[in-house]
Amino acid sequence: MTDGQMEAGDESGLTEAERDVLDEIEAENVDFVRLQFTDITGTVKNVSVPASQVEKAFDEGIWFDGSSIEGFVRIQESDMRLEPDPETFQILPWRSNGETASARLICDVVNTDGTPFEGGPRQVLKSVLAEAEEMGYSVSIGPEPEFFLFEKDEDGNATTEPHDAGGYFDLAPKDLASDVRREIIFTLEQMGFEIEASHHEVAEGQHEINFKYDDALGTADNIATFRAVVRAVAEQNDLHATFMPKPIGEINGSGMHSHISLFDEDGNAFADEDDEFNLSETAYKFMGGVLNHAQAFTAVTNPTVNSYKRLVPGYEAPVYVAWSDVNRSALIRVPDAAGASSRFEIRSPDPSCNPYLALAAVIKAGLAGIENDADPGEPVREDIYEFDEAKRDEYGITTLPGSLGQALDELEDDPVIEAALGDHVTEKFLQAKRTDFADYKAHVSSWEKEKYLEKF
Ligand code: GLU
Ligand code: MG
Repeated sequence: MTDGQMEAGDESGLTEAERDVLDEIEAENVDFVRLQFTDITGTVKNVSVPASQVEKAFDEGIWFDGSSIEGFVRIQESDMRLEPDPETFQILPWRSNGETASARLICDVVNTDGTPFEGGPRQVLKSVLAEAEEMGYSVSIGPEPEFFLFEKDEDGNATTEPHDAGGYFDLAPKDLASDVRREIIFTLEQMGFEIEASHHEVAEGQHEINFKYDDALGTADNIATFRAVVRAVAEQNDLHATFMPKPIGEINGSGMHSHISLFDEDGNAFADEDDEFNLSETAYKFMGGVLNHAQAFTAVTNPTVNSYKRLVPGYEAPVYVAWSDVNRSALIRVPDAAGASSRFEIRSPDPSCNPYLALAAVIKAGLAGIENDADPGEPVREDIYEFDEAKRDEYGITTLPGSLGQALDELEDDPVIEAALGDHVTEKFLQAKRTDFADYKAHVSSWEKEKYLEKF
């Protein structure tokens, strides 16, 4: 390279990370790059650009029509830009054939004037993480997304026929899906995921793959990527993967338990080895905040009508707002861990959530707890599913919302969680979800017909 070329390179204003991406695009013979972002429902959106456009995308962003994205903007203010985050560059292994490859970059959404778009879910999470940083913390999240693998029918449509008849931690040959799961894991590893464990879950056809914790933004990006990979690999095997929270009644649903800890300059701010549960004052306050705002953030962590079919007693999903070290019926469980691993697990989120908004809401609740010295109370060691209302009252245990409608009412009553989402997302989110809930209420289900048609 001549000096002249060096200068031209520098003048282009690209960062080192951006230049690295351009080098990798060339080395891997990438032809197309998908620029990815999510709408407020968490659906991944793509704008595909030829590799030759990526430099321009880094330089000035890529324009798109924001009015066609759920929850973004109205038609008259529709010009928006995508700014790719070079740290998120990944080759898509299932779109690569050895000669050419496709890749993706996760993007932030910006307004015409270059300011961050407050309706972009990634921006919402970044804002809450900036608040955490101001308080001296970074936030680590380790998620456990569960999902089902179902057969397709002869027309290629998804069924709810489980792909295998395995059960919790079963191994092949009953666990037919372990080959598919292995393929999913290999694909994730090729994309830079560090897979810690995977197993067959309790229900037939149900699986869990745990990947290593990361800072909250990285984890939210990872969850979005994870769902795309699981669906793509299932599709290649002629199966349907679903993150629907409760695809089949009367058996376990799919959760996305999330392990949380805060780090400051001295290390894990949740750790205190003198405490019975190895948790610090900061951890208890954060936990208190999560418990105080749980009713309101449930609308965000469990954002579908179907989510509330999972949050019922008896299927290892939480229903009650309490914490415990042993008990899976509580909202928060403290695993037996210490030092750098001290953390707690929030068990209510499900994998139909928008990961950026869900993490933003939960983290904001915890930060509010630190600010207000919130008290989580005593752990509950008994099975809360067995408690009657009087006993729950005695222990001061409240219940999570029983429907999406109730959850939305709670969200509207909680300025802290509304502030986490910001005005724009709060308004659009409530609008979209109220519409869903109204449709659902107006629908007459087959259960009702079976039960009442002949009886009355
Ligand atoms: N599938 C259960 C849920 O809905 C959780 C099972 C487990 O403890 O991993 O949350
Ligand atoms: Mg699990």
